[in-house]
Amino acid sequence: MLEHKTLEQRSRNMAAVKASDTLSEVYKRKLLFSEGFRYRLKQKGLPGKHDIVLAKYKTVVFIHGCFWHRHLCHLGTTRKSNTDFWKKKFTSNVDRDNRVIQSLLELGWRKVIIWECAIKGKLKLPKNILKLRLFSSICENPEKIIEIYGIKIT
Ligand SMILES: [Zn+2]
Repeated sequence: MLEHKTLEQRSRNMAAVKASDTLSEVYKRKLLFSEGFRYRLKQKGLPGKHDIVLAKYKTVVFIHGCFWHRHLCHLGTTRKSNTDFWKKKFTSNVDRDNRVIQSLLELGWRKVIIWECAIKGKLKLPKNILKLRLFSSICENPEKIIEIYGIKIT
């Protein structure tokens, strides 16, 4: 019974990781590279696991799954079963996120977070708007931490 549960959880984790890899892959290629941004996936000496490094702009772009990184949106809802497991997992995710943000800021880097809900689901942004937000976040906005998330556009 226990083993069954663990297996189930593991495959759920793997599916979530895979989904977020696919999301970032699409956005790395289609949104950034096609528009002439040159990015790297890794840079020595930078803390955290980042999706995109734009050295020229000293900016790191993260694509965050709303469920795993606890976004307060319709995709970030808490599981009803196995609450302790999820609580623990979430606390450690959020703690790690905060540590990474802090170290990046100390090194003089900026951070742009694209939340999953900006890319998929009922609040996702139209592609042209997402592109505009991303580019102005990278090139024009002087804020140190910028978040792009899904909203209802009418
Ligand atoms: Zn979200």
